[in-house]
Amino acid sequence: MILYIEKKALNYPITQSIITKFNPKIILINHYKDIFNRFHQNFNYQKSKNALILAVKENTVFYKGSKFCNNRGFKNFYYSTQILGCIYNCEYCYLGGMYPCGYPVIFVNEDDFINNASKLKNAYIPISYETDLLAFEGIYPFHKKWIELASKREDLLIESRTKSANTDKLPDNPPKNFLLGFSLSPKEVTKFEKKAPSLEKRIKAIKKALQKNYTVEIAIDPVIKVDNYKEVYKNFISFLKKELDLDKIHIEIGSFRMNKDFLKRLRKIHLSEVTWYPYEIKNKEARYKDEKDIIDFIKGLI
Ligand code: SF4
Repeated sequence: MILYIEKKALNYPITQSIITKFNPKIILINHYKDIFNRFHQNFNYQKSKNALILAVKENTVFYKGSKFCNNRGFKNFYYSTQILGCIYNCEYCYLGGMYPCGYPVIFVNEDDFINNASKLKNAYIPISYETDLLAFEGIYPFHKKWIELASKREDLLIESRTKSANTDKLPDNPPKNFLLGFSLSPKEVTKFEKKAPSLEKRIKAIKKALQKNYTVEIAIDPVIKVDNYKEVYKNFISFLKKELDLDKIHIEIGSFRMNKDFLKRLRKIHLSEVTWYPYEIKNKEARYKDEKDIIDFIKGLI
Protein backbone atom coordinates (compact mmCIF):
# COMPACT_ATOMS: atom_id res chain seq x y z
CA MET A 1 0.00 0.00 0.00
CA ILE A 2 1.09 3.57 -0.70
CA LEU A 3 -0.09 6.33 1.62
CA TYR A 4 0.14 9.98 0.68
CA ILE A 5 -0.16 11.68 4.05
CA GLU A 6 -0.56 15.35 4.78
CA LYS A 7 2.03 16.29 7.38
CA LYS A 8 -0.69 17.62 9.68
CA ALA A 9 -2.60 14.29 9.39
CA LEU A 10 0.29 12.19 10.60
CA ASN A 11 -0.50 12.10 14.30
CA TYR A 12 -4.21 11.36 14.12
CA PRO A 13 -5.34 7.96 15.50
CA ILE A 14 -6.77 6.86 12.10
CA THR A 15 -3.45 7.57 10.39
CA GLN A 16 -1.47 5.77 13.06
CA SER A 17 -3.86 2.81 13.01
CA ILE A 18 -3.56 2.43 9.21
CA ILE A 19 0.23 2.73 9.32
CA THR A 20 0.47 0.09 12.05
CA LYS A 21 -1.92 -2.27 10.28
CA PHE A 22 -0.53 -2.10 6.73
CA ASN A 23 3.10 -1.00 7.07
CA PRO A 24 2.70 1.08 3.89
CA LYS A 25 5.17 3.08 1.84
CA ILE A 26 4.62 6.65 3.09
CA ILE A 27 4.92 9.82 1.04
CA LEU A 28 4.48 13.01 3.06
CA ILE A 29 2.67 15.87 1.32
CA ASN A 30 1.64 19.41 2.21
CA HIS A 31 -1.96 19.33 1.02
CA TYR A 32 -4.14 16.56 -0.39
CA LYS A 33 -5.13 18.73 -3.34
CA ASP A 34 -1.49 18.70 -4.49
CA ILE A 35 -2.11 15.03 -5.38
CA PHE A 36 -5.86 14.88 -5.81
CA ASN A 37 -6.41 17.89 -8.07
CA ARG A 38 -3.54 17.44 -10.55
CA PHE A 39 -4.38 17.62 -14.25
CA HIS A 40 -4.13 14.67 -16.64
CA GLN A 41 -4.34 11.88 -14.07
CA ASN A 42 -5.14 8.36 -15.21
CA PHE A 43 -8.23 7.52 -13.17
CA ASN A 44 -8.43 3.83 -14.09
CA TYR A 45 -4.70 3.25 -13.58
CA GLN A 46 -4.93 4.84 -10.15
CA LYS A 47 -7.94 2.66 -9.32
CA SER A 48 -5.78 -0.40 -9.96
CA LYS A 49 -3.20 0.78 -7.42
CA ASN A 50 -3.43 0.24 -3.70
CA ALA A 51 -3.02 3.87 -2.68
CA LEU A 52 -4.79 6.25 -0.33
CA ILE A 53 -4.48 9.90 0.57
CA LEU A 54 -4.85 10.81 4.25
CA ALA A 55 -5.70 14.40 5.02
CA VAL A 56 -7.26 16.76 7.55
CA LYS A 57 -10.39 18.52 6.38
CA GLU A 58 -10.29 22.12 7.50
CA ASN A 59 -13.98 22.75 7.04
CA THR A 60 -16.15 19.79 7.97
CA VAL A 61 -19.51 21.45 7.29
CA PHE A 62 -22.12 19.17 5.83
CA TYR A 63 -23.43 19.72 2.32
CA LYS A 64 -27.06 19.74 1.25
CA GLY A 65 -28.11 16.47 -0.40
CA SER A 66 -28.59 16.30 -4.16
CA LYS A 67 -32.02 16.53 -5.76
CA PHE A 68 -31.09 13.25 -7.52
CA CYS A 69 -31.48 11.52 -4.14
CA ASN A 70 -34.48 10.74 -1.97
CA ASN A 71 -34.51 13.04 1.09
CA ARG A 72 -36.82 10.57 2.93
CA GLY A 73 -39.13 13.39 3.88
CA PHE A 74 -36.49 15.29 5.85
CA LYS A 75 -36.15 19.00 5.17
CA ASN A 76 -32.70 18.75 6.68
CA PHE A 77 -30.81 16.45 4.34
CA TYR A 78 -27.07 16.84 4.70
CA TYR A 79 -24.31 14.46 3.80
CA SER A 80 -20.91 13.84 5.26
CA THR A 81 -17.77 13.82 3.14
CA GLN A 82 -15.45 11.95 5.45
CA ILE A 83 -14.05 10.08 2.46
CA LEU A 84 -13.87 11.32 -1.13
CA GLY A 85 -13.78 8.56 -3.72
CA CYS A 86 -14.23 4.85 -3.59
CA ILE A 87 -12.30 1.60 -3.61
CA TYR A 88 -14.63 0.27 -6.31
CA ASN A 89 -14.84 1.62 -9.84
CA CYS A 90 -18.40 1.40 -11.13
CA GLU A 91 -18.58 2.55 -14.72
CA TYR A 92 -21.80 4.47 -14.07
CA CYS A 93 -20.56 6.24 -10.93
CA TYR A 94 -20.69 10.03 -11.01
CA LEU A 95 -17.57 10.17 -8.85
CA GLY A 96 -15.55 9.26 -11.95
CA GLY A 97 -17.01 12.33 -13.64
CA MET A 98 -16.52 14.54 -10.61
CA TYR A 99 -13.07 13.73 -9.26
CA PRO A 100 -9.83 14.05 -11.21
CA CYS A 101 -8.06 11.39 -9.14
CA GLY A 102 -8.71 7.68 -8.61
CA TYR A 103 -7.06 7.59 -5.17
CA PRO A 104 -9.57 7.97 -2.33
CA VAL A 105 -9.00 10.71 0.24
CA ILE A 106 -9.70 9.80 3.84
CA PHE A 107 -10.13 12.73 6.18
CA VAL A 108 -8.70 11.55 9.45
CA ASN A 109 -10.28 14.18 11.74
CA GLU A 110 -13.39 12.03 12.23
CA ASP A 111 -14.35 13.69 15.53
CA ASP A 112 -14.85 17.00 13.71
CA PHE A 113 -17.34 15.30 11.36
CA ILE A 114 -19.18 13.64 14.23
CA ASN A 115 -19.29 16.90 16.24
CA ASN A 116 -20.68 18.79 13.26
CA ALA A 117 -23.30 16.11 12.64
CA SER A 118 -24.39 16.30 16.26
CA LYS A 119 -25.19 20.01 15.76
CA LEU A 120 -27.86 19.10 13.17
CA LYS A 121 -31.43 18.58 14.35
CA ASN A 122 -34.13 16.33 12.82
CA ALA A 123 -31.84 15.50 9.97
CA TYR A 124 -31.20 12.75 7.45
CA ILE A 125 -27.46 12.23 7.17
CA PRO A 126 -26.03 9.87 4.56
CA ILE A 127 -22.44 9.09 5.58
CA SER A 128 -21.53 7.09 2.50
CA TYR A 129 -22.39 9.70 -0.07
CA GLU A 130 -19.30 10.34 -2.15
CA THR A 131 -17.78 7.01 -1.30
CA ASP A 132 -18.68 3.52 -0.16
CA LEU A 133 -17.82 3.88 3.52
CA LEU A 134 -18.36 0.23 4.44
CA ALA A 135 -15.87 -0.82 1.76
CA PHE A 136 -13.22 0.93 3.91
CA GLU A 137 -14.24 -0.84 7.13
CA GLY A 138 -11.37 -3.33 6.74
CA ILE A 139 -8.98 -0.38 6.80
CA TYR A 140 -10.47 1.33 9.85
CA PRO A 141 -13.78 0.93 11.78
CA PHE A 142 -15.37 4.09 10.39
CA HIS A 143 -18.94 3.13 11.36
CA LYS A 144 -18.42 2.80 15.10
CA LYS A 145 -18.75 6.49 16.04
CA TRP A 146 -21.64 7.09 13.62
CA ILE A 147 -23.58 4.23 15.18
CA GLU A 148 -22.82 5.63 18.64
CA LEU A 149 -24.13 9.03 17.51
CA ALA A 150 -27.35 7.46 16.16
CA SER A 151 -27.82 5.72 19.55
CA LYS A 152 -27.69 9.05 21.35
CA ARG A 153 -29.81 11.02 18.87
CA GLU A 154 -33.19 9.64 17.84
CA ASP A 155 -33.94 12.72 15.71
CA LEU A 156 -31.12 11.85 13.32
CA LEU A 157 -31.47 9.26 10.60
CA ILE A 158 -27.98 8.12 9.68
CA GLU A 159 -27.60 6.03 6.56
CA SER A 160 -24.70 4.12 5.10
CA ARG A 161 -25.22 2.81 1.59
CA THR A 162 -22.91 0.16 0.25
CA LYS A 163 -22.00 -2.53 -2.23
CA SER A 164 -19.55 -3.96 0.25
CA ALA A 165 -19.74 -7.35 1.93
CA ASN A 166 -18.01 -6.09 5.10
CA THR A 167 -20.99 -6.47 7.45
CA ASP A 168 -19.06 -8.97 9.56
CA LYS A 169 -16.85 -6.03 10.60
CA LEU A 170 -19.76 -3.95 11.95
CA PRO A 171 -20.87 -3.86 15.60
CA ASP A 172 -24.01 -5.79 16.60
CA ASN A 173 -27.38 -4.32 17.58
CA PRO A 174 -27.29 -0.76 16.20
CA PRO A 175 -30.22 1.60 16.89
CA LYS A 176 -33.16 1.60 14.45
CA ASN A 177 -32.27 5.08 13.18
CA PHE A 178 -29.07 3.74 11.68
CA LEU A 179 -29.85 2.42 8.19
CA LEU A 180 -27.74 0.10 6.14
CA GLY A 181 -28.66 0.31 2.47
CA PHE A 182 -27.38 -2.29 0.04
CA SER A 183 -27.12 -1.44 -3.61
CA LEU A 184 -27.93 -4.57 -5.63
CA SER A 185 -27.89 -5.23 -9.35
CA PRO A 186 -28.38 -8.25 -11.58
CA LYS A 187 -25.21 -10.00 -12.78
CA GLU A 188 -25.66 -8.43 -16.19
CA VAL A 189 -25.17 -5.07 -14.47
CA THR A 190 -22.60 -6.00 -11.80
CA LYS A 191 -20.16 -6.45 -14.69
CA PHE A 192 -20.05 -2.62 -14.75
CA GLU A 193 -19.34 -2.51 -11.01
CA LYS A 194 -15.63 -3.14 -11.20
CA LYS A 195 -13.93 -4.35 -8.03
CA ALA A 196 -17.24 -4.52 -6.12
CA PRO A 197 -18.33 -7.83 -4.48
CA SER A 198 -20.55 -10.20 -6.44
CA LEU A 199 -24.32 -10.20 -6.01
CA GLU A 200 -24.09 -13.43 -3.99
CA LYS A 201 -21.58 -11.91 -1.57
CA ARG A 202 -23.79 -8.86 -1.09
CA ILE A 203 -26.81 -11.06 -0.36
CA LYS A 204 -24.75 -12.95 2.20
CA ALA A 205 -23.73 -9.61 3.72
CA ILE A 206 -27.39 -8.56 3.96
CA LYS A 207 -28.25 -11.78 5.78
CA LYS A 208 -25.39 -11.12 8.20
CA ALA A 209 -26.60 -7.55 8.77
CA LEU A 210 -30.12 -8.80 9.50
CA GLN A 211 -28.73 -11.30 12.01
CA LYS A 212 -26.93 -8.40 13.68
CA ASN A 213 -30.23 -6.50 13.92
CA TYR A 214 -29.50 -3.81 11.36
CA THR A 215 -32.34 -1.96 9.69
CA VAL A 216 -31.62 -3.00 6.14
CA GLU A 217 -32.77 -1.48 2.89
CA ILE A 218 -32.15 -2.45 -0.69
CA ALA A 219 -31.48 0.01 -3.47
CA ILE A 220 -32.02 -1.21 -7.01
CA ASP A 221 -30.36 1.87 -8.26
CA PRO A 222 -29.27 2.59 -10.89
CA VAL A 223 -31.41 0.35 -13.04
CA ILE A 224 -29.47 -0.03 -16.28
CA LYS A 225 -31.10 -0.81 -19.59
CA VAL A 226 -28.87 -3.67 -20.62
CA ASP A 227 -29.90 -5.89 -23.53
CA ASN A 228 -33.16 -7.62 -22.81
CA TYR A 229 -33.40 -5.71 -19.54
CA LYS A 230 -36.97 -6.74 -18.74
CA GLU A 231 -36.04 -10.42 -18.68
CA VAL A 232 -32.82 -9.65 -16.81
CA TYR A 233 -34.61 -7.76 -14.03
CA LYS A 234 -37.43 -10.29 -13.90
CA ASN A 235 -34.92 -13.06 -13.16
CA PHE A 236 -33.08 -10.80 -10.74
CA ILE A 237 -36.17 -9.98 -8.68
CA SER A 238 -37.18 -13.69 -8.61
CA PHE A 239 -33.70 -14.45 -7.31
CA LEU A 240 -33.99 -11.79 -4.59
CA LYS A 241 -37.39 -13.12 -3.58
CA LYS A 242 -35.92 -16.58 -3.12
CA GLU A 243 -33.01 -15.28 -1.05
CA LEU A 244 -34.67 -12.58 1.09
CA ASP A 245 -38.04 -11.75 2.60
CA LEU A 246 -38.70 -8.69 0.46
CA ASP A 247 -41.97 -7.95 2.29
CA LYS A 248 -39.88 -6.93 5.29
CA ILE A 249 -37.24 -4.87 3.46
CA HIS A 250 -37.83 -1.43 2.02
CA ILE A 251 -36.66 -1.17 -1.58
CA GLU A 252 -35.58 2.03 -3.32
CA ILE A 253 -35.62 2.07 -7.10
CA GLY A 254 -33.95 4.53 -9.43
CA SER A 255 -32.77 4.41 -12.98
CA PHE A 256 -29.54 5.86 -14.30
CA ARG A 257 -29.43 9.66 -14.08
CA MET A 258 -26.53 12.06 -14.05
CA ASN A 259 -25.50 15.65 -14.45
CA LYS A 260 -24.56 15.99 -18.11
CA ASP A 261 -21.12 17.49 -17.42
CA PHE A 262 -20.17 14.58 -15.16
CA LEU A 263 -21.35 12.19 -17.86
CA LYS A 264 -19.21 13.96 -20.43
CA ARG A 265 -16.13 13.43 -18.28
CA LEU A 266 -17.14 9.88 -17.36
CA ARG A 267 -17.29 8.97 -21.06
CA LYS A 268 -13.57 9.73 -21.31
CA ILE A 269 -12.81 7.27 -18.51
CA HIS A 270 -15.15 4.42 -19.37
CA LEU A 271 -15.83 3.53 -23.00
CA SER A 272 -18.81 1.58 -21.84
CA GLU A 273 -22.33 0.87 -23.04
CA VAL A 274 -23.56 2.52 -19.84
CA THR A 275 -21.73 5.79 -20.32
CA TRP A 276 -22.28 5.98 -24.09
CA TYR A 277 -25.98 5.16 -24.10
CA PRO A 278 -27.84 7.95 -25.95
CA TYR A 279 -29.57 9.39 -22.91
CA GLU A 280 -32.03 12.19 -23.18
CA ILE A 281 -30.49 15.43 -21.92
CA LYS A 282 -32.96 17.80 -20.30
CA ASN A 283 -32.27 20.54 -17.79
CA LYS A 284 -28.58 19.58 -17.83
CA GLU A 285 -29.44 16.02 -16.74
CA ALA A 286 -28.95 12.75 -18.61
CA ARG A 287 -31.76 10.24 -18.11
CA TYR A 288 -33.50 7.43 -19.96
CA LYS A 289 -36.30 8.77 -22.09
CA ASP A 290 -38.61 6.07 -20.72
CA GLU A 291 -37.42 6.40 -17.13
CA LYS A 292 -40.93 6.28 -15.67
CA ASP A 293 -41.80 3.07 -17.55
CA ILE A 294 -38.56 1.43 -16.40
CA ILE A 295 -39.24 2.23 -12.75
CA ASP A 296 -42.88 1.18 -12.99
CA PHE A 297 -41.80 -2.07 -14.57
CA ILE A 298 -39.39 -2.89 -11.73
CA LYS A 299 -41.98 -1.88 -9.11
CA GLY A 300 -44.46 -4.19 -10.80
CA LEU A 301 -42.04 -7.10 -10.51
CA ILE A 302 -41.58 -6.48 -6.80
S1 SF4 B 1 -19.68 1.57 -5.03
FE1 SF4 B 1 -20.88 3.46 -5.19
S2 SF4 B 1 -19.41 5.08 -4.74
FE2 SF4 B 1 -18.22 3.25 -5.20
S3 SF4 B 1 -17.74 3.40 -7.37
FE3 SF4 B 1 -19.62 2.18 -7.19
S4 SF4 B 1 -21.32 3.66 -7.37
FE4 SF4 B 1 -19.43 4.82 -6.95
